[in-house]
Amino acid sequence: YVSNWIILKKVGTKFSIEIISRRINFFVIIGGIGLLLLILGGMYVIFIYLAKQVDIAKSYDNFIASVTHELKSPLASIQLYLETLSKRAIPENRKKEFIDLMLKDTERLKDYIDTILEVSRIEQRRPVFNFAVMDGVKTVRSIIADFSRRKNIYHRNLKVYSDNSGNIVADRDSLAIVIRNLLDNAYKYSNPNSQVDVHMYCKKNSFIIDVKDRGIGINPLDQKNIFNKFYRLRDPKKPHVTGSGLGLYIVREIVKHHKGKIVVLSKGLGNGSTFRIALPLYSGLNKELLKPLLNAKRAG
Ligand code: ADP
Repeated sequence: YVSNWIILKKVGTKFSIEIISRRINFFVIIGGIGLLLLILGGMYVIFIYLAKQVDIAKSYDNFIASVTHELKSPLASIQLYLETLSKRAIPENRKKEFIDLMLKDTERLKDYIDTILEVSRIEQRRPVFNFAVMDGVKTVRSIIADFSRRKNIYHRNLKVYSDNSGNIVADRDSLAIVIRNLLDNAYKYSNPNSQVDVHMYCKKNSFIIDVKDRGIGINPLDQKNIFNKFYRLRDPKKPHVTGSGLGLYIVREIVKHHKGKIVVLSKGLGNGSTFRIALPLYSGLNKELLKPLLNAKRAG
């Protein structure tokens, strides 16, 4: 009995130590793997953050280069016209041509500076709006008429349709920035003389504005990014198309302040794009949403 007991005790002791040591190993391994995963997760987060920072820095560099170009080129051309006018005897009819070209350049400059000011207001969280109740179709049609007059766009290249209208609560100047940006892009990212359609209608409690082009289209994977600040897509076929990457960012911010939504619909590259804005109809706006809109004051 004693010898058996000793043997069993020995076996038992050996066995239990093995189990305990195996358990310890098991827990150590699980703990180690957990820690490793945690470290890897942390490294991944840091990597993503750094990659984003690098992207932002790159976009910012692009933006600075584009601002410099967009501001310098109209200024240089105005300077050239003025020098020519002051140093040479120019016939009257050519003078008028020069003045018209200079006016176009100053308008380009003004648009660009307005864009930068608008972004700075949005960034400082003090966008300024002068909201009022207005007829959706009438307002958008008059904005489009101003746009096509300024840009010399022929009727056949810009078709405007409206099924029905409704009242919206909007700041006309800001809405003009939105429509101008969408139309500018529609022509910029299409072949010359391509047709753009604007279609307006009411659906449920929204006033819808569709800006449809027949241009280069947008890859579905890029569609959610194009509204980000400084985001620009490179089109190898049109490497010289300039821009700041701020247009759609401003558009989305202004639409958001109007309690509206904007989406892009495109079946992909080569299939054109439609930018759809949905603004709440005045009749459907509840008082809580309406109050801050109508109380918002334009700071100047
Ligand atoms: P920008 O035109 O100054 O580059 P935007 O913010 O207006 O900046 O547009 C961001 C990007 O979205 C553009 O660089 C372009 O690649 C893409 N994009 C915008 N509008 C269109 C359009 N109508 N068709 C195709 N691509 C577009």
